[in-house]
Amino acid sequence: MVCWLTEKASAMLTESADMGAMEKALVQASLAPCRKALERMAQEKAKRQEMLCPKCNKHMNIESYGRARKVTSSFGDIRFARDYGYCVKCADYVYPADIMLGLHTRAPASPRVQEICALTALRAPAGQAQSDVMRLTGIKLDASSIHREAIRQGERALVLRDADEKLTQTSVGIQELSSRAVVPDSPFTLVIEIDAWNIRERDHWGHTKSLLKAGKDLERWHWVYTGTVFRLDQRGTTESGRPVITQRGYVATRKGIDSFQRQLYAEALQRGLKQAELVLIIADGAIWIWNIADDRFKGAMQRVDLHHVQGHLWKLAGEIYGSGTIEAREWVKPLLSWLERRKDGALDVISNLKDMKLTHKNITAEQQDEIDRQIGYFEGHKHRMDYKTGKALGQPVGSGAIESTCSQYQRRFKLTGQFWSLEGDEAFLALSTLHRNERWKQLFPSDSA
Ligand SMILES: [Zn+2]
Repeated sequence: MVCWLTEKASAMLTESADMGAMEKALVQASLAPCRKALERMAQEKAKRQEMLCPKCNKHMNIESYGRARKVTSSFGDIRFARDYGYCVKCADYVYPADIMLGLHTRAPASPRVQEICALTALRAPAGQAQSDVMRLTGIKLDASSIHREAIRQGERALVLRDADEKLTQTSVGIQELSSRAVVPDSPFTLVIEIDAWNIRERDHWGHTKSLLKAGKDLERWHWVYTGTVFRLDQRGTTESGRPVITQRGYVATRKGIDSFQRQLYAEALQRGLKQAELVLIIADGAIWIWNIADDRFKGAMQRVDLHHVQGHLWKLAGEIYGSGTIEAREWVKPLLSWLERRKDGALDVISNLKDMKLTHKNITAEQQDEIDRQIGYFEGHKHRMDYKTGKALGQPVGSGAIESTCSQYQRRFKLTGQFWSLEGDEAFLALSTLHRNERWKQLFPSDSA
């Protein structure tokens, strides 16, 4: 085998070939025998396959023997024959061998090719993925096949995600999700961070020109609601002091707030929501987020991101004293320090703002309004601003984890000039999220990582 392979690969190489060229030639040379071997193995397995219904496990009637099928494998196309059955109980026609081998009814890709398409498409647009696949495996797949296959895997990920979302609707389901959590024996804090970003979509594929002529807007922006869940003890710092989280859950969807909050709840349950001693929710000041916190996570501690709050004070300082001025900086400094160092720093900020309104001379009506707006902001969120205690307990005071999560998603979903179709991007979000949540094995049982 080795001798023969060496000869075949060598024949493809020039005298100046380096080891990289040898590696590629060996992959090429082994494709044909591997393809034949896979074909034989698949055929033998199909022959041994019992005619049992995959749904009810009852014996099926055989509709026809030895129907041919072509599959695109990672070694090239293979062919094999298998029997077609009918289950009287389920009133369903099936190829049991296809299901056992991990093949889809109407898609040519083998499980390995399905996985290659899904993984490469997650990293890069299908056009780029095409050349990556060619380089890494030696197989030629066109960009649209990769895209189609990746979306198909995304649809499978959606089915799994929807099933988890559905479990949140019943108490038995909630228990089931909760039982999946792997948690330490000692008390722990669960942190949930929430944010949103937008995705550009274009509908009406294929009708672009006529719609453009008619002056119709083709782009739409959709909110992608995003959340991340982790235990405080899973958060640490690198040697250089950069915060890292060793394990965490992700949620990302553009299906709307109601679906998002169920998905987030499902993820939190699987990460130890019921077992946590303390649940901490961190986000910016958006109302919808705190509504979710009140509805779904009753009793959780709420915290508004410190950086956002500081931004509010800087903005006000600029309005009153001129942005970038020494006066603005002098005024804002003590207020920033109270926020971080005093337990009731927010109350001190509020009374300072109220004093300023009364004592500051030459204040315009617009400035008065801005002060009122900020007083309102601090009044509304003061119970979410105990940064001093948070820091003392080693908790995060900012929503940096969710911000980095959003930018990771955006790197793939907001590439320049990239548009997504309505169905495609939700499936793809589900696929990307399943991968981040380290549940790849649920789609690809052969995954060993
Ligand atoms: Zn059946």
